[in-house]
Amino acid sequence: VWNRCLHVIRESVPEQSFKTWFEPIVPLRLNGHVLTIQVPSQFFYEWLEENFVHVLRKALDHAIGRDGQLEYSIIVDKGNETNRPLTVNVPTTKSTQTAKPDNVNPDILKSPFQLKDLDSLTLDSYLNPSYTFDNYVEGDCNRLARNAGYAVAQRPGVTSFNPLMIYGGVGLGKTHLVQAIGNYIKNNNQGKFVLYVTSEKFTNQFLNAIKTDTLRDFSSFYMQVDVLVLDDVQFLQKKEKTQEIFFHIFNHLHQSGRQIIMTSDRAPKNLDGLEDRLLSRFKWGLTTDLQTPDLETRIAIIQKKLQAEGVYIEDNVIEYLAHSINTNVRELEGVIVSLMAQASLNRREIDLELAKHTLRNIVEDSEREVTIDSVQEVVADFFGVTIAELKSKSRKRELVYPRQVAMYLAKEKTGLPLKSIGYHFGGRDHSTVIHAIQTISELVSKKAETRDAIEKLKAQFK
Ligand code: ADP
Ligand code: MG
Repeated sequence: VWNRCLHVIRESVPEQSFKTWFEPIVPLRLNGHVLTIQVPSQFFYEWLEENFVHVLRKALDHAIGRDGQLEYSIIVDKGNETNRPLTVNVPTTKSTQTAKPDNVNPDILKSPFQLKDLDSLTLDSYLNPSYTFDNYVEGDCNRLARNAGYAVAQRPGVTSFNPLMIYGGVGLGKTHLVQAIGNYIKNNNQGKFVLYVTSEKFTNQFLNAIKTDTLRDFSSFYMQVDVLVLDDVQFLQKKEKTQEIFFHIFNHLHQSGRQIIMTSDRAPKNLDGLEDRLLSRFKWGLTTDLQTPDLETRIAIIQKKLQAEGVYIEDNVIEYLAHSINTNVRELEGVIVSLMAQASLNRREIDLELAKHTLRNIVEDSEREVTIDSVQEVVADFFGVTIAELKSKSRKRELVYPRQVAMYLAKEKTGLPLKSIGYHFGGRDHSTVIHAIQTISELVSKKAETRDAIEKLKAQFK
């Protein structure tokens, strides 16, 4: 039956679409009038329903008859070892009935830590099962951290990597990696209590415990954790009381051979506002960093993401994306998602042209985000003057220069008309703005000092 459907479909859609959207489909069964097909992802299913519903209807009419129905089986939890197929009943009308796995966790904060019941409680790890080693792409940028993480995952609390501290900039994969460790341990050690918590949540829980006089419950709760994953410890900076309780929990866990895993957005030596005694504890184990991924790793990451979505795109498009986005993995993912959305909205294939178009829009969006207010704020801050002073009528030298710089940047960053910029600077007219821009342009070409200042200021808008 499916072959007959394919026959009809092949005649109705372009060759490329057929390859991308119909070849990956696996027919599962025919039950009376209901044909069940398996699709690789939720996205895939939505795409089919959105773009090919008429073709599918035609194919069903031909192969089964008017009362033929289609049922999708969507593979969820990509990257997880166990693929739970999820069946959605779709009557092949336009109705897009989606089925989302419902793994929203009730917040631990809402219930106080009920210690008496703890044994009978199913303890929630607050781990996201979609972060695994399987879908973590290894590259030069993360090899050491990944391998140390894997060693810890296999022998938690036993290796000398205790604590394991992973640091690196935003979007480089810290959370993914430490959650992968947590998931691995949880899945391979029944009865071990693995807990993932962000430092922010930890802090809030602690403050809440003080407020509700349940501090004792709070600490005993944490003291029974077998593997503690504390994300973003930079958040604990300057929070002395929270650090103190964490210090005690840390000591207790460490002494009893429990594993501690932490992340931070900067190297421990740059974590000012963190107590020395805590920092010195971090040195007991292994500290390792994540770097920005190189081109090859970026390509591999894009391929992996697309594969997980069940979407196929040409190599040259992948290479183009990998070349263009070299900041971090989160950004890379964001672009892939909007690319898929763009393709879906415009009902077209993901090709080089669409990739370029999407990327251009994203860049323009982020540039548009700079407002004249933010320019004034940044410049005022930089020169140590107030925004009111920038806008004022004062002709003091210490104000004229910052004001001119602000106008110059306002033009360059917001692209607003001169008149409108003048208006935002205390209602000055456009010739004043032109004069400012000319003055600063000249200084930029002549004086290193101005050039430096402008460069530093611009960097703040990135
Ligand atoms: P961080 O915690 O460092 O800010 P995340 O762990 O949240 O970064 O990663 C951002 C996104 O990039 C996540 O969706 C994550 O799955 C993905 N990611 C990061 N590194 C990798 C990698 N090496 N392989 C696959 N996906 C990655
Ligand atoms: Mg993170």
